Amino acid sequence: MIIFTDLDGTLLDHESYSFAPAAQALAQIRARNIPLIFATSKTAAEIAPLRDATGIFMPAIVENGAGVDWPGRQDDDNDEVYQHIRASLDAMPASLRRRFRGFADMDPAEIDALTGLGAGLCAARRRRYSEPGVFSGSETDREAFLYHLATCGLLAVQGGRFLTISQGVSKADRVADIVGWWRERHVDGRPITLALGDAENDIDLLEAADLAVVVANSSHAPLRPLAGEAAGRVVRTREEGPAGWNGAVLSFLEDPETFAERYRP
Ligand SMILES: [Mg+2]
Repeated sequence: MIIFTDLDGTLLDHESYSFAPAAQALAQIRARNIPLIFATSKTAAEIAPLRDATGIFMPAIVENGAGVDWPGRQDDDNDEVYQHIRASLDAMPASLRRRFRGFADMDPAEIDALTGLGAGLCAARRRRYSEPGVFSGSETDREAFLYHLATCGLLAVQGGRFLTISQGVSKADRVADIVGWWRERHVDGRPITLALGDAENDIDLLEAADLAVVVANSSHAPLRPLAGEAAGRVVRTREEGPAGWNGAVLSFLEDPETFAERYRP
C-alpha cells in the first residue's frame, strides 16, 4: 500500500501546524515501513524539518506536484526549471514584467507579511520548480501575462494567496512516479493507494487514488462531491486535521480492502 497525504489542514493542524493528534497512526506507519508520501505545495527545503519531526523519510511530492523530493538523491541543486521560470519572467516586456512580484523579487519582510511564515521563510524561498507571486493589473494585463508564460511552456494558477507559475502540473501527476518507485521494490502486484486531503488543490490527487479521505476543515467550504464518492470510494472525516487523519488512517491500516465500508467517523 501507499498513502499520499496533503500537509496543511490535513496531517498538520490548519492553525497550529501540529501533527500531535496523528501520533498513533504515524507510529504504525513507521513500524510497518509503509510509504507515506507527503504531497504538498511546500518546497523540499521546507519539508526537511517535518521529515525529522515525524520520522518519515519517504519520497515527497513538492511544489504542488512540480517535483518529487527523493531522499538521498544527489540532484538537490538542480534548479533548471526555476531558472527557466525566472528567465521567462525577465524576458517579458517591462510593462508586464513589473506587474508580477515573485518570491525572488520580494525581500523577506514582504513575504513574511503576506504569509506569516516567519522562521520557515528561507526554506520557502529555496524553490526549484515553481514561483509564487502577486499579480497586480487589469484582466487584459493578466491575459497577456499568461499568454507570455504559455509561449515559454509555463502556466500560472491562482491559489488562496498567490498566483503560482510552474510547468503546469498537479499533485496527481506525480502519483505514477511514486507507484513506479514502489514497483522497483516489489516483485509483483500493484499497491492499493489511499490519498488524504482537505482542499481544492487536493481534488485531483484524491481522485487519482484507489481510496480517498476528505479531512474536515471548517475554515473553508466543504469540497464538492468527488468522483466515486457515491459508490463509496471516498470517506469524509468528522474530526478536523490530524485528529481526523489519525482515525481514518488507523482504520485503513487495519484492513484496506474493507476500509471504505467500515469507516464510520
Ligand atoms: Mg491542505
